[in-house]
Amino acid sequence: MNPDGTLCLESPINLLGKLSAKPDLLQFAESCLIPYLYCVSHKLKNGGKFLFGELAHGPKGILDDYKQLWGLQSPEQVWMVLNAMKSHKREANKMLCPCGCGKRLGVCSYNRYLARLRKIAPRNYYKKQLDQVTPYFPQSTLKKLKKYSKRVQVIE
Ligand SMILES: [Zn+2]
Repeated sequence: MNPDGTLCLESPINLLGKLSAKPDLLQFAESCLIPYLYCVSHKLKNGGKFLFGELAHGPKGILDDYKQLWGLQSPEQVWMVLNAMKSHKREANKMLCPCGCGKRLGVCSYNRYLARLRKIAPRNYYKKQLDQVTPYFPQSTLKKLKKYSKRVQVIE
């Protein structure tokens, strides 16, 4: 439950991912709405904690959610994925890969996962998400992260 009394259903990208797999209303009801209503009614009946992890609001909540969704270890990696996703593919391929392999994105198989994300939402969407999470990071971290997004020299 958020401070203003509203509920976080699920982050938009989770919903978009589920909907893009089979974009009809039945699918939406099955994968999103029913679990949501179930979890609300359970809370009303039994009180206590929500069955499903509630999303913390704000940048931290978004970062936590993506971290889990994309199988990453740190919020910095999430930033790197969002930064790659808001960029053109050619540009993103030159960036340091967010998976931690130390190579540039274009030569890592993690690239294939990002190609799927590109189909789920437009670059503009990821740009907005990036803008939302950026205030979470201290300036020194952002400086480092921005350096990673410059062309990476790799010995291939
Ligand atoms: Zn990689």
